[in-house]
Amino acid sequence: MEIKYIKGIGEKRAKAFSKIGITKIEDFLNFIPRLYVKRYSIKLLKNYYDIPVVLYGTVRKVDFPLKSNHPAVVYLSDETGMISIPIFGASHLRAKQFHLNEKYLFYGKNTYDIFNGILKFEYRDHLKIDDTDKREVKFSSLKIFPIYELSSELKKTFIKPLTLTKIIYFSFYRLFVEDKSDVIKESLPEELFSQLGLLPLKKAKIKLNFPNEIKEVELARRRCAFDELFFLELILAIKKNLIKIENKGIAFSKDITHTVECFKKCLNFKLTSAQRRVMNEIYLDMKSEKAMNRLLQGDVGSGKTIVSIFAMLISVVNGYQSALMCPTELLATQHYRTISEFIERFNKISNLNIKIAILLGGQKKSLRKILLSGIKNGEISIIIGTHALIQENVEFKSLGLAIIDEQHKFGVLQRAKLREKGLNPDVLVMTATPIPRTLSLTIYGDLDISIIDELPRGRKDVITLIKNENEKNEVFNFIRQEINKGRQAYIVYPIIEESEKVDLKSAEENYKILKEKIFPDLNVQMMHGRIPDDVKDKIMSEFKEGKINILVSTTVIEVGIDVPNASIMVIEEAQRFGLSQLHQLRGRVGRGAEQSYCIIIAKEPYDITSRRLEIMCKTNDGFKIAEADMEIRGPGEFFGVRQSGELNLRVADLIKDKDLLFKARDIAFKMIEKDPQLRNPQHINIRNYFINNYKDSLNLMKIP
Ligand code: ADP
Ligand code: MG
Repeated sequence: MEIKYIKGIGEKRAKAFSKIGITKIEDFLNFIPRLYVKRYSIKLLKNYYDIPVVLYGTVRKVDFPLKSNHPAVVYLSDETGMISIPIFGASHLRAKQFHLNEKYLFYGKNTYDIFNGILKFEYRDHLKIDDTDKREVKFSSLKIFPIYELSSELKKTFIKPLTLTKIIYFSFYRLFVEDKSDVIKESLPEELFSQLGLLPLKKAKIKLNFPNEIKEVELARRRCAFDELFFLELILAIKKNLIKIENKGIAFSKDITHTVECFKKCLNFKLTSAQRRVMNEIYLDMKSEKAMNRLLQGDVGSGKTIVSIFAMLISVVNGYQSALMCPTELLATQHYRTISEFIERFNKISNLNIKIAILLGGQKKSLRKILLSGIKNGEISIIIGTHALIQENVEFKSLGLAIIDEQHKFGVLQRAKLREKGLNPDVLVMTATPIPRTLSLTIYGDLDISIIDELPRGRKDVITLIKNENEKNEVFNFIRQEINKGRQAYIVYPIIEESEKVDLKSAEENYKILKEKIFPDLNVQMMHGRIPDDVKDKIMSEFKEGKINILVSTTVIEVGIDVPNASIMVIEEAQRFGLSQLHQLRGRVGRGAEQSYCIIIAKEPYDITSRRLEIMCKTNDGFKIAEADMEIRGPGEFFGVRQSGELNLRVADLIKDKDLLFKARDIAFKMIEKDPQLRNPQHINIRNYFINNYKDSLNLMKIP
């Protein structure tokens, strides 16, 4: 039904609503209250402080503002008393619009000064009630008023909070009291939701918006949250199932006993048991016919690179190529060095002649030509590179394994593009940003997951300290001390994309001061994204060789860089970074035998940010930090998940609803395994709901 038939929405407002996609009354059923406000009697008000309230009463008197900065004062009474409500910013004209002796709802915040016995009401909104209209009277006697977010889009309709609440109330009234048509179709089999102790969907929607008591809200919310999680997991289950059925992958079935022996001989350390476990998981995936689609999570320094080398070797000895894609040239170059050294040893021991190459954006045309033909004719078996790998003109002879390092830096499309370079190659994505399990089950829910939860032995925990701006001299002295002992240091400045120019300028100015004033006798160099690649390379190798004492840098060094002798990480303006990013940066030190330090410098040391930063001092465990980061910033902000639009939860809360998520996942995956197209009559509700609400995902199910 069109919304203009609801009281409160005339032609004009209906037009405004239609501009933001609200055309039917049913569209209001998807609104979710941002907050619930109780209606109080005036007498009871003084028992409550600082809470939003709704009052219902009769306007007895209005004092008009005498000066423009004075409030208008409205006197409202109900059967228990009278209250004066100052309205600031109300012009004479607006104040005149109140009708004396008529009924009004007022919404505002109640504050009560216990010492002076003064009640203050902070006005937010009011609404005139027509007490000859039965529905309006019913509305005004609600015990609890839902208040909705006025998104900037909604604000364009000039709607105010109580009016929106009234419109939604009238929509519900129309659909469930007057019409009694069944607009909300149950999405789950009754057996399922009752077993889980959840409400029927219709009841949940009504209670979520118009509860009689606050405690009903949570039960209603849980039902809606379950649906959100369940259908998300259902889509993931369908996707994963399809990959299994359609994408017969490569079975790397050659016996690798000899390869493993040679591999072991090339190692100059003992693998951790976690490394061995994940290598085994990867091997089993590769050996089987199904296409591997696996996420390898491991904290910074946990040794993922060697695991990736192992996987690449399996593919190569089976006659296929392997590719490793990195987010930055720095990282690609470093990987290329490490892996080349390893392969050189491996070639000697195994009597093989595995060729490895690096493909970057800015390489000379002549070199690029040679590399591209080597990749195309299969001469080169291991290819390391950046985005350059997924360009159109790069053709592989037979790509068997695609690895993506620090995969959160890439989008879904880029992942897919690398995969498309082969015929269903196995895919391994690696990340050092640990993801809370709740998140990995949602955003990466279609991947299998391997976790390296152990650091190589002998690593000392990095000591983390928080300092403020005034303590910088102390920090500089400390750096000097450590450098005298032969160590090296990083000093990192934030560059936030939106203010890149300003940030880079301030980083460069600081660099100048450090180099010329504070450490004139030391070799201080600067690194940032705009520096030409060959210069970057030169700086990095000089730093690695210990010729540079202090590397002043932006976050380009955030991922992957491995210089064991660097033992100090100073992070400036740390309040601007997320915890996971700080953890990444900290991961650049603590890689050698010496005690390492991470010094976090924050602008305002005693506010919320620093309490957030204190988590960094408490733990070195990336998973714990990730959980905390997610709790503080919300899953949406957590390394830009929201940007990628992969996770759009409106009711469910990955922290509060962990249990629901695990159940939803379990049920969805089992269901799709048994009934991939949801044809079982028991699943009819789910099937219909899915078809009606997840049109984009329909083609996934191949439903004709
Ligand atoms: P990340 O998981 O952060 O990518 P790397 O693969 O770069 O970590 O490994 C970090 C450092 O630890 C490297 O110098 C690597 O040679 C070393 N390393 C890896 N595995 C082990 C191990 N089992 N024992 C000792 N050192 C190891
Ligand atoms: Mg790495």
